Amino acid sequence: MLSQLMNCPYCQHDDLAVLEKRDIEGGVRRRRLCNNCQHRFTTYERPEVPQLVVVKKDGSREQYDENKVKLGMDMACKNRPLHPAQISQAAVEVTQALRAGEQDAVSSNQIGDLVLEKLRQLDPIAYLRFVSVHHSFPDLESFKKEIQRLEKITNKEVIWPKLKPQNQKHQI
Ligand SMILES: [Zn+2]
Repeated sequence: MLSQLMNCPYCQHDDLAVLEKRDIEGGVRRRRLCNNCQHRFTTYERPEVPQLVVVKKDGSREQYDENKVKLGMDMACKNRPLHPAQISQAAVEVTQALRAGEQDAVSSNQIGDLVLEKLRQLDPIAYLRFVSVHHSFPDLESFKKEIQRLEKITNKEVIWPKLKPQNQKHQI
């Protein structure tokens, strides 16, 4: 179907033959021959993933990049007892949640909230680090309250039951 709509890049003719077809990661590669000018060329066809645009706080737009999300999470999780795969998986889930909304544009706040939610599940300290960088608290009091709330959760030892007690002294 798609191949019928294709034109030769050299002469723009549409009388093309497929010499070889090969499945490659995430798509199909075809070696083609133009029956008009006899040029050979290769095409790669991949199922189209809709683009996701991020609208930043200052109104500027940029392409959504899962690597950036992961980088932010990596930084928040630095030296925390987490496996890199947990962080990668969380970043994938953020992307999935954004795409599930079926919008073509999302705000950086939406992304931040999803990242926060994931970090909150993964590690309270990573969560707090991210909050302190990306969310501006209205005042010091509300920031303190958030810390206290997280300390309560952490002290229950429900999150890292295997950690030794001395590891529970946190540095933010
Ligand atoms: Zn041609």
